[in-house]
Parts: sequence; structure tokens; C-alpha cells
Amino acid sequence: MKMAGFYDESISNGLGWRAVLFVSGCPHNCPGCQNKMAQSFDYGEEFDKQKIINKICDNSILKGITISGGEPLCKENVKEVVEFIKDVKKVRPNFNVWCYSGYTIEELKNRNDEITNQALKEIDVLVDGRFVQEKKDPTLKFRGSSNQRILDVQKCINENKIVQIAL
Ligand code: SF4
Repeated sequence: MKMAGFYDESISNGLGWRAVLFVSGCPHNCPGCQNKMAQSFDYGEEFDKQKIINKICDNSILKGITISGGEPLCKENVKEVVEFIKDVKKVRPNFNVWCYSGYTIEELKNRNDEITNQALKEIDVLVDGRFVQEKKDPTLKFRGSSNQRILDVQKCINENKIVQIAL
């Protein structure tokens, strides 16, 4: 997997101080995508998991990690993303995990494959759905278009319904 970027600290990619990993590669090709270069799986630099984990360990202000892209949960990236989250939690067990995905939670659940189910177990908050230009709204917090939802993943799974986080 390649990564399109990494922020040591951010407050605009989820609640609280967070590190942000942008993975490379996305199959959705949404019109109006603001990160078109990161749609290529060859874009960016090789993902060095240990280097990123070391950076996270060195920063005590962080409350969580956000995985964005590109598409973290496509079949090409999901396995490495799950391994990364698990390894982050070994060193920072209280970390809160946000993930941005162009897939909806329904699409992810319907895959019904082991690695996607593991991803859903590890993620606390999923901002789901493709970017839709006609629904673009710059006033929205933490998302680009109004079709996208900010979901409490564990409640969505355990209660088998859509549970959005009110911000
Ligand atoms: S899901 Fe995100 S990265 Fe992928 S094409 Fe759509 S806006 Fe761009």
C-alpha cells in the first residue's frame, strides 16, 4: 500500500487532536473529488507502518487516528489498514479510530467478508458514502456532501440500525 500523506496532528479530520493517514488508491472516481491524485494506487510514498506508529507514540497530545484517502476500505487497502489499526491500538489502546470511506456501511456489511468485518470491529466512527458534488455543503462538519453520514459503527453493528453521531 502507498500513502498519499500523513498529518502528525489535525483537528479538522474528526473530533479532538488526531493523527491522519491518507492512503493511496480509490476506485470511486467521484466527480469533484478534491484529492484526485490520491485515486491512483501508485501515488505517494510506500507506507512505512512502523515509522508512522513511532510518530504516533512520540505525540502525547493525540486522542485518536483518522484513516482517510483515497479509499481505506477497498479490497486493495483494507487488509493493511486493519493491520495498521490493530498495531496502533497495541501502543495506544485508548485511541479512538475514525475512517472515511466512499462505501456506505450497508455496502461494507453486505460484503460479508472476514477482513471487512474486522475493519468494522476496529473502527469507532465511519464517515461513509461517496462525495456527491450536487450535495456539496461547506458548512458541514467533517464531511463534504450531505449524503455522507458520521456513524457510530459499533452501535450500527450491535443494534443493526443506522446510528449517526450528532455533532
Ligand atoms: S471516495 Fe473520496 S477519494 Fe475517492 S473519488 Fe470519491 S471523493 Fe475522491
